[in-house]
Amino acid sequence: MNVLSGKSVYKGIVMGPVVVLKKDDCQVKRTKIEDAEAEIARIASAIEKSKEQLQALYEKALGEVGETSAMIFEVHQMMLEDEDYLDAVYNIIRTEKTNAEYAVAVTGDNFAEMFAGMDDDYMKARAADIKDISNRLIRNLAGYESVDFANMEPSIIIADDLTPSETVQMDKSKILAFATVHGSTNSHTAILARMMNIPALIGVPMDLEQVKSGMTAIVDGFEGTVTLEPSEEIRAVTEAKIKEEEEKKNLLLELKGKENVTLDGKSIDIFANIGSVGDIGYVLENDAGGIGLFRSEFLYLGRDTFPTEEEQFQAYKQVLQTMAGKKVVIRTLDIGADKQVDYFGLEKEENPALGYRAIRICLKQPDIFRTQLRALLRAAVYGNLSIMYPMITSTEEVVQIYKIVDEVEEELANEEIPFKIPEQGIMVETPAAVMISDELAQMVDFFSIGTNDLTQYTLAIDRQNEKLDDFYNPHHKAILRMIKMVVDNAHKAGKWAGICGELGADLDLTEEFVRMGVDELSVAPSMVLKVRKNVREMTAEI
Ligand code: PEP
Ligand code: MG
Repeated sequence: MNVLSGKSVYKGIVMGPVVVLKKDDCQVKRTKIEDAEAEIARIASAIEKSKEQLQALYEKALGEVGETSAMIFEVHQMMLEDEDYLDAVYNIIRTEKTNAEYAVAVTGDNFAEMFAGMDDDYMKARAADIKDISNRLIRNLAGYESVDFANMEPSIIIADDLTPSETVQMDKSKILAFATVHGSTNSHTAILARMMNIPALIGVPMDLEQVKSGMTAIVDGFEGTVTLEPSEEIRAVTEAKIKEEEEKKNLLLELKGKENVTLDGKSIDIFANIGSVGDIGYVLENDAGGIGLFRSEFLYLGRDTFPTEEEQFQAYKQVLQTMAGKKVVIRTLDIGADKQVDYFGLEKEENPALGYRAIRICLKQPDIFRTQLRALLRAAVYGNLSIMYPMITSTEEVVQIYKIVDEVEEELANEEIPFKIPEQGIMVETPAAVMISDELAQMVDFFSIGTNDLTQYTLAIDRQNEKLDDFYNPHHKAILRMIKMVVDNAHKAGKWAGICGELGADLDLTEEFVRMGVDELSVAPSMVLKVRKNVREMTAEI
């Protein structure tokens, strides 16, 4: 028995036979050629064949994991037309009089090394893409047929690394887990594994000469371990663990994939709240229709310096890519009050909840805001992003925000950096915003009601003060009437309105919210299926 630890990119536990995928089935030999132009012509037809294969993969991925994840195969098609890459290949053929396979292999290695040496994690991860397209070209030049993954029995895939095209070609129902020696959490393979709900481990120090197809293995995504040839005792413990996990899942699983629709046909969106990129797994596991609140301030907590534009961009992009075209509402920085960060240098305040926090900091210190907006606008290219501004009390604040967004837009355009202006909405979490929600609705794309703060500010009760728990009543008629008012004003202006505060997951109120016409409830991932159950068992019309 051999237990090896790695980094879990998706949780779950499985036991089954191993299939080891080796890449050295396509050895490249260097041979001398006479006619360089004939070799270059061979490359042209191999490129055509590769593009056809990639287009087929794109279409397959599009149906299975959505446009954002499928996009990588479009990118691969474009890479096959990259002039720098092709010039390097042609140059080797012409100057060294070598065969096309060799020229592609050398160029692929050189370019992959160049990307791997870059500081930027995203660019580093592209080294795998370069290798992927080069190997495809070589296979097509050499006339190799691709591996027939579809005919494999359900197995744990063990490999040095997995390329996106290998991952997506596999028949998901036949794959129990992935475990690779290399790979990054940023890689498309990790993203696809999460999308596919398949336990996956990367960075497992396995000796692929020792691991043989047909061996039994346990991949434990909770512990981050791969156990090869487990003992009888460990097998029994694992079987019990798998059963326990199954039972937990099965209870609610029946509701996965079902619509959030009432008995009389009214639908509502049920999204999830997250605080970090690592929470996306739970969003997918619980079948949320999107992310209704990503509390971006968590990226700023637990560190000594501001997260850079690039760090934020990577985090937002990863969320958007993994959500594969589903809506992702990212709330801008909501620091202050209970969320204190030393490096912001905020002064101690008498009433921090009524103090310098959230959008107020962003408007007073626009450089902090600008950095986040640049990251968001850049990330918007990679999925279905909505930006949401917290703690709004006036229309003037929205005007000021839009002015800064316009400036950031101009800046990015001048720098020729790709970006998109996403849907922009506000949190309605102050009584002031509720009272002018008719005017605000004209200015924004959506409302998301933050009942945690709305309750605090409406009932004048500090949400942090345990002694006031008995008075903190979010079912108060004032709160429910406010919610109704906000929803009605949003609808009058043709906008959508959701709830992302804790009240959205209050199962006693699901019926009332649906009847009020709330368009979206964004709740903790573990509550998604429970709220769905409520919706499916109620009628919207009394
Ligand atoms: C809210 O106030 O309801 C909300 C969702 O925001 P937070 O809890 O992060 O203040
Ligand atoms: Mg709030």
